Amino acid sequence: MRDFTTDHRWLSINTATVRKSRGVDVPLIDILDACAQRGIRAVAPWRDQVAAAGLANVARTLKAHGLELSGYCRGGMFPAADAAGLQAALDDNRRAVDEACALGSPCLVLVVGGLPGALDGKAAHKNIALARSQVADGIASLLEYAHERSMPLSIEPLHPMYAADRACVNTLEQALDLCDALDPARSGALGVAVDLYHVWWDPKLQAQVQRAGQDRLHAFHVCDWLTPTTELLTDRGMMGDGIIDIRQARGWVEAQSFAGYSEVEIFSSTNWWQRDMGEVLDTCIARHQSAV
Ligand code: ZN
Repeated sequence: MRDFTTDHRWLSINTATVRKSRGVDVPLIDILDACAQRGIRAVAPWRDQVAAAGLANVARTLKAHGLELSGYCRGGMFPAADAAGLQAALDDNRRAVDEACALGSPCLVLVVGGLPGALDGKAAHKNIALARSQVADGIASLLEYAHERSMPLSIEPLHPMYAADRACVNTLEQALDLCDALDPARSGALGVAVDLYHVWWDPKLQAQVQRAGQDRLHAFHVCDWLTPTTELLTDRGMMGDGIIDIRQARGWVEAQSFAGYSEVEIFSSTNWWQRDMGEVLDTCIARHQSAV
């Protein structure tokens, strides 16, 4: 297992972690500058942040700083209530693949979606099996496009509390079943993003990480699970402040020869997003060494 205690060369910052500084939105370029100043070597930006800053501008800044991507957030949201909606989702996902290519990302992370309309509080139906079959069809279709452009797709299973509105793929086992079904030859074009916030509780986690193997382990996301958790989406903890045995899980991933970045992804509306960006980044570096 790699020693993270003395430096942060394998730390990546998911840019949502410092989306806000003292409660105010931070432009992506400022985030990239602040990461580079601290010797952080990788980031994972979000599409909305990239769109606001301009794709070419972001690509240029990444290059100027020598920053890599550990992933691009995100594609997915495949299910829809009608054919036009399914096609619109596919078109948008193709644009996400193109952006990931332009930024030199190693993969496009997929948050696959749940019941259409549920995110707005107006679910079109209650058929989660239908949503799951639309997810499989959507990934199959996107896979062809992404594979032609050599952009791997990484399915991120989300905690079951998000099954209705964000992702009806909720375990690593379910994600790997999709990989087996859609890419049986293990071409490398389809794999998983293991986010410990979503999968730490799973009794099958270690076994499924072994099943994934190096070729399907595309990304490793860390933060911590707070007790109590006061908000479903934006109350993630800093590594070391909660109950996830992060180092044990990293050991399982690295036992499969995973040698990529440990990406910090924290949504925290009442704590970390209220602090100064510099303080948050410095804390990420310290906790990467002490708790990851
Ligand atoms: Zn994640």
